[in-house]
Order: sequence, then C-alpha cells, then structure tokens
Amino acid sequence: MMIVYNYSELSKQDIQKLVQRNVDPANEIRAVVEEVIANVQQHGDRALFDFADRFDKVKLDKLYLDKTELEEIAAAVSPAQKAALETAYKNIYTFHQTQLKAEDKVETMPGVTCWRELRAIEKVGLYIPGGTAVLPSTFLMLGIPAKIAGCQEIIVCSPPQKNGKVNAFIAQVALMLGIDRIFLSGGAQAIAAMAYGTESIVKVDKIFGPGNQFVTKAKTIVQSTTATAIDMPAGPSEVLVIADETAHPKYIAADLLAQAEHGIDSQSVLVCTSNEIANKAIQEVERQLAVLPRAEIAQQAIDNSYIVVVDHLGEAMNFSNQYAPEHLILATDKWQEITGSIINAGSVFLGNLTPESAGDYASGTNHTLPTSSYARAYSGVSVDSFVKKITFQHITEDGLKNIGPAVQTLAELEGLHAHANAVAVRSNG
Ligand code: NAD
Repeated sequence: MMIVYNYSELSKQDIQKLVQRNVDPANEIRAVVEEVIANVQQHGDRALFDFADRFDKVKLDKLYLDKTELEEIAAAVSPAQKAALETAYKNIYTFHQTQLKAEDKVETMPGVTCWRELRAIEKVGLYIPGGTAVLPSTFLMLGIPAKIAGCQEIIVCSPPQKNGKVNAFIAQVALMLGIDRIFLSGGAQAIAAMAYGTESIVKVDKIFGPGNQFVTKAKTIVQSTTATAIDMPAGPSEVLVIADETAHPKYIAADLLAQAEHGIDSQSVLVCTSNEIANKAIQEVERQLAVLPRAEIAQQAIDNSYIVVVDHLGEAMNFSNQYAPEHLILATDKWQEITGSIINAGSVFLGNLTPESAGDYASGTNHTLPTSSYARAYSGVSVDSFVKKITFQHITEDGLKNIGPAVQTLAELEGLHAHANAVAVRSNG
C-alpha cells in the first residue's frame, strides 16, 4: 500500500528523506562487491565459474556461447517476436544515428582553426541484466549505439540462466547486432572481469549497462580503482508520475506497476494534484497488481513507493526536480505548459497516451538512464557515450602572428618561460 503525503505538510528534511533512495548506509553491498572484485582480480576465469555456481546456481563448463550456439538458441524466437525486435531495432537505430554529427571547424582568429572530431572508444563492455528478468531490450539499447559509434571490440556479459545459457531473445539480438560471443557472467563479477580482464575476457575501456545494486556498486568501485570508465550509475529503476484531473487512474496505475515489476528495489512515485486522484490510483494499483504474474516483486516495490499530493502542477514539478527521476511521466493534457520547468530527469513521457513502456522498448530513445537522483548530473546512454571528442587545432604563419603575443604574455605571467619560448622560436624564424 502506498503512503500518501501532503506536500504542504512536508518539511525540507522530510522531502530530503523522501527523495533519497538506494543508499547503502551500512556498506553491506559494498562489502560483498569488494570481495567479489578482489576474487576476480586474483583468480580470473576460475572466480567467474565459482560465482556462477554460487549466485546463479549454475555449473558452467564453458564461460561463453559462440555464434553457432547463439544461432541454435535463437531458433526458438517466433516470427512475430523477431518482427517486434526488428521494429525496436529500426527505431532505436534511426533515433541514435542522428547523434553521430560532425562538428564545424571554427576560426577563432584569422589563421587559428580549432575543431573536434569523434573517435569511437575501442573496447567497450556491455552488461545485459538477467537476474530476475531477462532484458534483450537493454542489449538493443547498448549494442546499437556501440555499433553506430564504430567500437572495435564489444564484450558482452549476461548472467547464465538456470540451463547455463542465455535466453533466445538475447541470442537473437546478438545475431542482429553481429556480435558472436556472449560471456555467461553476471553481477559484480562480470563488471570486475571487464574492468580488470581475465584469461578469456578482454579488459575494456568503458563499461555500460544497468543492473541491480551489486552491478551498480561494482561499476562505481572499478571506475575509481582502474582506468576503466563507466556510462553512469544505472541502478534499480524508478518512475515519477505527475498527474492532474485530466489523467486516467487506470493509466497511472499501469505505469506505476510497470516500474514496480522490475525488482523489489524499484520505486514508483505519484505526485498528483488531489486526494481524489491519489485514492483512485491506489484502488487501481491494487486491482491491476492482483493479476500480474510478477505480483510478488511488484508488491514489494509498491510498498517501498509513495504518493505526494500537491496543490498545483508547479508544486509537482518542484518535487520532481528534487527527486530527479530516471523516468518522468507527465500524465496531464497540460504537459506543454510544464515541460519548460523540468530541470532534472533521465527521460520524459509527455501526455496521457505516452506510456513509459514505449521508450523502454521501441520508440527509439535509450532506456539506459541515470537512477538514484544521478539525473541531476548525468544523461542517459547515447552514441555520445561510446565516443570521445578529440580537439584539433592548426595555426598558419599569419595565425601565429595574431595569437603569438597573447600566448607569450600569458606564459610569462605564469612564469612558464619554455611555453613562451615555443612561440618565440617559431615567430623569430
Ligand atoms: P542483474 O543482472 O543486474 O543481477 C543479477 C546478478 O546479481 C546475478 O548474476 C548475481 O551474480 C548477482 N547477485 C544476485 N544476488 C546477489 C547477492 N546476494 N550477492 C552478490 N551478488 C548477487 O539482474 P537483476 O537482479 O534482475 O536486476 C536488474 C536491475 O536492472 C533491476 O534493478 C532493474 O531495475 C535495473 N534496470 C535499470 C535500468 C536503467 O536504465 N537504470 C534499465 C533496465 C533495468
């Protein structure tokens, strides 16, 4: 049952507490993850076999599936399912392809030209979650921008299912992306393997992908202990729905539950403009929850969720900006009036007919997004995440005459005479 708060009765501290999530105050997750990482560093592949046994309850005889095995597994995908994956592929590809834009060259002074060029990150590691739900959609969301960017080596890790394989949809997406190997490793151990390398897994330059708290913690640890970068901390999923009298309680409830079924640590927040909307939404959540196959998981996430009743949409946006949700749904016909005041959010869904599920799967936008209020400073995954932007400059003889004196003066005032000299030797012939 979701607790209902009245915004006007909440103090600053109350709001602080409400918007805080997935903290690990006793460092319990960190302790587990550090042990896993140390183990992988020390024992490499052996540790990956052991952790598959311990956490995924699978005794593997091989750490990866090759192309032939992936083809055999993918044969179970029906034509209708394949067509749906292809629709998603096409839309995600179309949207992301436009992100690969060359930038203009800029002449900052006559003869002084500066510009930036994109270069793909060479080796990337993609983590495809597969604990409680298997997410082929995440594979599309990470694989497509990696391919568009032109990454040379793409390592893919996903937890083994009980039969020691990946599911057919993951295999199908691998084939669609032209990826012919999937490593059967999940959790913190997969992240450690990609950050440090093992006998069979190449050390990568950047790790991508969402996951549970173990995965997210491992990513934040390895980014500070190795030269491996990460996309962002993309942990347990969350949604914040802003609703007014034009919203439909049935839709609101469906959106809250779509988030809740991800995992017990997911959070669904409703911010609405009356107690009446809150009550109707609660009734609908209970009604729809009762028939969900993942009701047990969703119920726990709903118990960890809440409703805030506000006086008007401006107040709702105020709360939302403090929460900085991964997904923000504006369940109101007046969405155009308030989108300008969104400051913090990962991905936004506008109006009553735009379910978050569309963006989760197939509309084209990326679903790998910052959670736990990281949307204050991070963007979701895009082609940008898979490239570096290298700056270039070229100076002509005239350019050197134009810029030289300023550089020499600045170098001298900083006491860096060799810097000044690098200009002087060129200017004085
Ligand atoms: P997962 O693949 O993230 O985690 C499964 C792995 O966790 C297992 O293989 C195991 O190694 C490890 N693990 C499980 N219990 C453990 C324990 N007690 N100690 C150590 N390791 C343990 O799959 P999941 O659990 O289903 O979680 C997927 C998560 O991804 C969900 O929380 C979901 O909300 C999130 N998600 C986020 C986004 C986003 O963009 N932010 C998108 C999709 C999914």
